[in-house]
Amino acid sequence: MKIIPSTTKCAKCESCGFEAYNEHVIGCKLELTFIRCRNCKTAVGVLEPELSSILIRDLAKKQGINLVF
Ligand SMILES: [Zn+2]
Repeated sequence: MKIIPSTTKCAKCESCGFEAYNEHVIGCKLELTFIRCRNCKTAVGVLEPELSSILIRDLAKKQGINLVF
């Protein structure tokens, strides 16, 4: 489990501590990474486990394609 220092507040309990937590979800083949409140466990975001944006950038770089965002 990774601890992310933050000043962002949880919408439910107003705690400022968040963590990344990997979990399987019914109907989803991949394990997802939830960003959730350390205090009340409310999810505030979800990340793809392989981080597709990084994979796309690496693939484009290997192909000599300059992606501009
Ligand atoms: Zn909370």
